[in-house]
Amino acid sequence: MRRCPLCRRETSWDDNPWKPFCSERCQIIDLGNWASEGYKVPLAETSDGLLPNEFLEEVENVSDHQL
Ligand SMILES: [Zn+2]
Repeated sequence: MRRCPLCRRETSWDDNPWKPFCSERCQIIDLGNWASEGYKVPLAETSDGLLPNEFLEEVENVSDHQL
């Protein structure tokens, strides 16, 4: 038996189209969590590998304090 990573309910991966989750509900909730996090932190938009501007400003502020 496996445990669903979302609700921790014991589930079987045999004949389970939603593995590693126990049900379609948990799979959808997990996908929704990823989607909402991606919306808050739009890392996907940094196609050239640069960090988001907000993060760079935070780093600059920290180094200002240290000087
Ligand atoms: Zn579950």
